[in-house]
Amino acid sequence: MIIQLQNNISEAEKHQLLTAVSAIKYKSTEVRTRQGYYLVCIGKEEFDIRSIGSLSGVRDVHRVSEAYKLVSRKWKVGSTHIDLGDGLTVGGGNIALMAGPCSIENEKQVERIIAHLVKNNIRIMRGGVYKPRSSPYAFRGLGLEGLQMFSGLCREHGIKVITEVMQVSQVEEMYDYVDVYQVGARNSQNFNLLDALGKVDKPVLLKRGMSGTIDELLQSAEYIFSGGNEQLMLCERGIRTFENAYRNTFDINAIQVLKDKSHLPVIADPSHGVGIREYVPAIALASVVAGADGVIYEVHEVPEEALSDGQQTLNFHESEQLIRQIRSLQLI
Ligand code: PEP
Ligand code: MN
Repeated sequence: MIIQLQNNISEAEKHQLLTAVSAIKYKSTEVRTRQGYYLVCIGKEEFDIRSIGSLSGVRDVHRVSEAYKLVSRKWKVGSTHIDLGDGLTVGGGNIALMAGPCSIENEKQVERIIAHLVKNNIRIMRGGVYKPRSSPYAFRGLGLEGLQMFSGLCREHGIKVITEVMQVSQVEEMYDYVDVYQVGARNSQNFNLLDALGKVDKPVLLKRGMSGTIDELLQSAEYIFSGGNEQLMLCERGIRTFENAYRNTFDINAIQVLKDKSHLPVIADPSHGVGIREYVPAIALASVVAGADGVIYEVHEVPEEALSDGQQTLNFHESEQLIRQIRSLQLI
């Protein structure tokens, strides 16, 4: 059960409410975000919902039987919009496009990609500086210095920065330089990291784990929300299946299912979802038709020379074509 509290609920009213909740043998957790104040209650007993809803200080009560609660559409029917500032929002109609290299490599690379984004009116740039790599000998990113350079150049052009955070200590370190924290597939169930991201006042894009179920993704999102951060986006980036003709199996079903189960925006990542450049545009378009609120994809001036994920990265020409196609879909 989710109890939405009046923001100005008094201590006496709260005490009365907590007494009523423990009388029906429910355990409660208080959640305060910038947008709201909630009591998330877990229990099994049958009870008359009016006995809680009629108490003073209570705005609304909802029964949510799923393990995830605050991210569920069962209590919030309207969709969540994420405000990135400067008139940029994710969710609520427009398709948000986020593009950039897998890894930030050097200043020249970033400048060229920014010019490509500016030319095509894309205002969110992705780029990793802490790279989770299967091999410890592979390029693992430029770290904080790289992020400072990346972020500085983006800010000169009014472009928002999304980059992956891999561990708790980086949340604070990266804070001044990011607009959206990305949680990668490998960290989708790093609960300490999710807790830490619940405490920041910047949006988070949470990717589905490599073998993560939809339910697990939503429960991971619940960690961040219940920690106090409502500014969340979910990301379908493909899952590992028996199929090995491509890198991952992009789960197109997940887009509709996530949109149905949750009020959070859903972003598609066709680059990691299929892992082969030629197929990326078609999967990106399919995801938009399936209802995605945005697309995040990899682009590089010379993908063949990219330090990571070049095989799934679009060149500028391919990227431009994809942007045009996505925008023309929106006109239909
Ligand atoms: C990435 O976005 O470059 C990345 C590492 O993605 P994922 O976590 O989905 O593998
Ligand atoms: Mn990548």
